Order: sequence, then C-alpha cells, then structure tokens
Amino acid sequence: MADAMRPAWAAINLQALQHNTHVIRKLAGERRILGILKANAYGHGLTRIAQALADIDAIGVARVDEALQLRNAGITRPIVLLEGFFAAEQIPVLAASSIQPVIHNMHQLEQLAAAEHVSDAMRVWLKIDTGMHRLGIEPSQVSTCYQRLLDIPHVNGAPVLMSHLACADEPDHEQNRKQLTRFSEAISPYQGSVTSMANSAALFAGIGKEYDWVRPGLALYGVSPFSETIGRDYGLEAVMNLQASVISVRKIKAGEPVGYGAAWAPATDTHIGIVAIGYGDGYPRHAPEGTPVWIGGRCYPMVGRVAMDMITVDLGADLRVALGDTAQLWGRDLPVEKVAEAVGTIPYELLCNVARRVQLDYL
Ligand code: PLP
Repeated sequence: MADAMRPAWAAINLQALQHNTHVIRKLAGERRILGILKANAYGHGLTRIAQALADIDAIGVARVDEALQLRNAGITRPIVLLEGFFAAEQIPVLAASSIQPVIHNMHQLEQLAAAEHVSDAMRVWLKIDTGMHRLGIEPSQVSTCYQRLLDIPHVNGAPVLMSHLACADEPDHEQNRKQLTRFSEAISPYQGSVTSMANSAALFAGIGKEYDWVRPGLALYGVSPFSETIGRDYGLEAVMNLQASVISVRKIKAGEPVGYGAAWAPATDTHIGIVAIGYGDGYPRHAPEGTPVWIGGRCYPMVGRVAMDMITVDLGADLRVALGDTAQLWGRDLPVEKVAEAVGTIPYELLCNVARRVQLDYL
C-alpha cells in the first residue's frame, strides 16, 4: 500500500531513545550521565530530545545559543557548555541561566575571573589536555587553574576535572593508555574531585568509565561508535529513520542515461525510482553509485548523481516498488553505519547534516 507522497522527513523514535538510555544507564552503573545533545541533538531536534531524555543527569551542548534554547524551552536540568565557546560578555548570562562552562585555557579563566555583574555563582568544568592537543590546559597548569577557580567569588566550588580521548573508538590504541595515565596523574592531588572522561566509545569499551560522569552522544541515538559494527550489536536501537517517498517510477532502456551529467546508464533495461530527497535535505552529494536505499523490505542501489531534491534508484527489471512507496535512507532497517561506510564518511556527519527543511516526526 503506497503512502501519501512526501518529501524527506525523519521519523524520530523516542522509544528507541529511552531504550538506548536504559542500555547506557546499565553500563554506566553508579556514574552520572551527561547526555550530549550538540548539533541539534545530532540532527534529532534539540528541544524534543532534551524533553524526552528523562533518565540522564545533565545535558551537554557546544554553543551558548543551544544552551539558551533549552532554557527558553523550560529545560531545568544542568547544562554543560562543552566546547567552551563563549564571549566574555556572555558570562553573566551563563551564570543567570545556570549553564556550566568548560574552561579549557588560561584566557577563558581570566575572562571568568574578570567578569562583572555575575549574580549567581557558577559551576565550572576544567578541561585537561591529556593528548588530544585541541582544547584543554596542560597537566602542569592544573594546580594553578584549580586554585584560581576556587578563588573566584562567583565560581561555585571546585571544578569538575575532565578530558577527552582521541582514540576511544580504537580501544587497543596506545594513545588511550597514554591519555588515561596522564589524566590519572593530573587529577591525583585532587582526591574527592568530580571527574569525567568517557564518551560513547570509551563507555562501551570500558575505558575511563570509572570517572564520575560519562558523556555519551552517538550511542544515545542508537549508533555504534565503532567501525564495522552497528548499534544493534551493542543492544542499541536506531532513533532516526530518514525517509522520503518514491515520487516517480519509470522504465529505462539499456544505455539511456539518468540524471545530471548523464553520469550513469543501465546495462540492461530496468526501472528507475525517483526518491524525494537530495543534498538540500542533507543526503550526501558525494554518495557513490551503489549506496543502499531501503524500499519495501529490500535494498536497492542508488545510481547517478545526487541532486538537490531527489536521488535515483535502480529498481531492476522485475518491478516491486510502487509510486508513493516510502524509501528509507537510513534508520531501523538500513543502519546509518552501513550508509556512512558506503559513502565514505562517519554516522555523525550524516546525522548532523540533516537539513532544517526535513520535518522531524516524533513517534
Ligand atoms: N564529550 C565531548 C567533550 C565531546 O566533544 C563529545 C562529542 O563530540 C562527546 C563527549 C560525545 O561523543 P560521542 O558522540 O562519540 O559519544
């Protein structure tokens, strides 16, 4: 039975989200969970995901506007500003909105110390660079920064000490051991301090998950953080189902080209399905021929070039697809990990790139 024809939409399965949270909660044990919702909750819709995530202890975002969007939507849970992008003049707003910034360099620390009109004392996190070499203070600076933070009247208590692993998705990588050793040395003078290390991969690999806060992002959305596996291998369920209608089905003779650049033509007579999703929706423009598309219980190869509003799919000579059928670009039946592999990218990029014009339907 054909569905009503629709351009791309994403069905967001909130039950799958609850299920994944439950899996993560079991793994995390007594640890607290900072659910990572940056980049519009990895494309799933920031506010709705924050509202639906009942069983997490705090929310992590990257930007001040994301944090304020959550506060304006009435989310009262603690919010951590992970990447520490904030301007000095935003500090009073962060304080008034109970947004906890991650301090990752001396410059920010001095801005924090110099801030005026800070009405509410702020909780802060202190990021230590243990080997990723992007953000974070040097381990040798921890004692100075720690004390400096304690001395700032508008900072509330000791900072949470955190770091981030560069290679958690490769659990046997030497870098993990190095970073964990540096972290444990850097925090050892601060017994009793609150600490955090693990993202999804580290949590599932059991690396650095002994620290007080775990910080899963990708796994919440049901996606495996490890290559060559899918979320289901870890008991997770896909939350996003990216879908679009088949808006045209036509016969194509052998050798007749399809789409822009006349870049692809079938070797034998076939049927082509036109699916109403394109790079304007966030479907990757560089998806190569053969990228799987799920329609009516089976996979078909995407062929020809991805256009702004549509893609073309080879349905074969023996036609089993009808006009108006729903195609799944990734989701429960077609794991986003498999599509990412076919496209030569990572699931994070596919999920985050889903465009604003794609309607999110919460189930
Ligand atoms: N912690 C930090 C500091 C991050 O930047 C991120 C995401 O990039 C995460 C945790 C979550 O990572 P993942 O989605 O791999 O679980």
